[in-house]
Amino acid sequence: MSFEQLGLSEPLLKAIAEQGYTTPTPIQTQAIPVILKGQDVLAGAQTGTGKTASFTLPLLHQLCENFDPTAKPRRIRALILAPTRELAQQVFDSVKTYGAHLPLRAELVVGGASIGMQVRNLQHGCDIVVATPGRLLDHVQQRTINLSNVKILVLDEADRMLDMGFLPDVKRVMGALPKQRQNLLFSATISNEISNLADQLLSNPVNIAVAKQNATAENVTQLVYGINREYKRELLSYLIGSNNWRQVLIFVRTKHGADRLEKQLATDGIRSVALHGDKTQGARNKALEYFKNGKVTAMVATDIAARGLDIDELPHVINFDLPQVPEDYIHRIGRTGRAGASGAAISLVCPDEAHLLAGIEKLLKKEIPRVADTGYEPVSLRVNDAPKKNAPNKNTGKKDYRHSKPAAARTGKPKPGGSGGKAPAGRRKPGR
Ligand code: AMP
Repeated sequence: MSFEQLGLSEPLLKAIAEQGYTTPTPIQTQAIPVILKGQDVLAGAQTGTGKTASFTLPLLHQLCENFDPTAKPRRIRALILAPTRELAQQVFDSVKTYGAHLPLRAELVVGGASIGMQVRNLQHGCDIVVATPGRLLDHVQQRTINLSNVKILVLDEADRMLDMGFLPDVKRVMGALPKQRQNLLFSATISNEISNLADQLLSNPVNIAVAKQNATAENVTQLVYGINREYKRELLSYLIGSNNWRQVLIFVRTKHGADRLEKQLATDGIRSVALHGDKTQGARNKALEYFKNGKVTAMVATDIAARGLDIDELPHVINFDLPQVPEDYIHRIGRTGRAGASGAAISLVCPDEAHLLAGIEKLLKKEIPRVADTGYEPVSLRVNDAPKKNAPNKNTGKKDYRHSKPAAARTGKPKPGGSGGKAPAGRRKPGR
C-alpha cells in the first residue's frame, strides 16, 4: 500500500515525500480511507505508530475539498484537542508540516502562551485549531472563539485526557460544537472509560486497533537493574558516562524529584534539564529544545510533561522511578525505538518498587530481563521480599533498612563526566 493509493491529494503527497515517508504505517493504512469517507473513528494507537499523520492527513485533505481560500470570514472547521501543551504543539507542528503546500491556516491554543495574541490570531480567522481543553474553554467563555462551524473533532490521547481529569472540560467543549460533525477518538489504551466516552461522542464508529496495543515496540531493548534506591543516582551517572550516551530521557515520579535529580546529575558532570508541570511554558519549551538539539545530555521528566513527546530516534529511556500506573511504562518507553529506529529502555528498580514491576510485567505478559551483575550487591525484586519500612529483622530483631552496600567499599564521588566515563571509584564495573 502506498500513500498515493490511500487517495490523498497531491500537495499532501508532496509534503509526505518531503518528510521521507515511503510507506504508510498500519494505523495510517487503516484510518486514512475511513476518515476520508467522513466516518467516525475509534482508534487504539499509541504514540510512535504514526497516529498523528493518520488523522492529520485526511483531515487536511477534507478541509481542502471545495474550499475557497479567498472566502471570508474564515471559520474554524477542524478542532484537535490534546491533553498537554507539548503534545498540542507537536500536533500543531504536524499540521504545519503536512499542510505546507495547502492554503489552510492553523492556530495553536494552549495555556502558558499570550491569550491576547491568540485572540488576535483567532479574529484574523483560521481553519484548524489545535488546543488543550483548559485554554480552549477560556476562549469559549470569553467568546473569543467561535466553534459553531466545526465539522471535524479529534480527541488525541483521550486516555490521558481522562487521566488528567479533563472529562468535564471535554464535555463542555462538545457542548460548544455543532451536533453534526465527524468525530475521531484516538487513545493509546481502550479502557471502559474510553468506551463510555466513545459511546457518547461517536456515531457508528469504525474501530481501528493497531496490533499489540498494550505491547511495547519490538525494537526496544528492555532491561531491569535491581538496585537499592540510594545507589540509583550513582548507577545512572555511571551508565550515562561509561557508555557515552548523548541523549537520555529519564523518568521520575515527582516534580521535586526531577529538579533534585537534575542538580545531582550536574554534580556528576552530566548536563541535564528538568521538564515538569511546575515550569513555565517558556522554560518547558527551552528544556525540550536544549534536549532535542543536543545542548544537554539528559532530560529528567515527569510522566505528564513527557507525554507524547516526539523526539527523533531517541536512543535511551531510563525509568529512574517506575511509574505508578503500568500503562505509563508503555508510554514512557514508546519515546524510544520510534518509527523503526532501535532503542533501549532501562529501569532502575529498588525492592519497594517490586509490586510496580510485577504490574508492568503482567500488562506486558512477559518478564523484562534482569541485568545479572549490576556492580552492586544483588537485591530481590520479588514482591513478597519487599522491605516493610523499619520492620525489625527476623533474625536479629534489629531494624533492617535492607540497604545493601556497593560490592566494594566506595571512596569519593563517581566521575562519569559524560565523556567515556570511568566506573565510580571503588565500585565494580557492572557486567554487561
Ligand atoms: P506519532 O505516532 O504520530 O507520534 O508518530 C511517530 C513518528 O513517526 C513521528 O516522528 C512521525 O514523523 C513518524 N512517521 C509518521 N508516519 C510515518 C511513515 N509513514 N513513515 C515513517 N515515519 C513516519
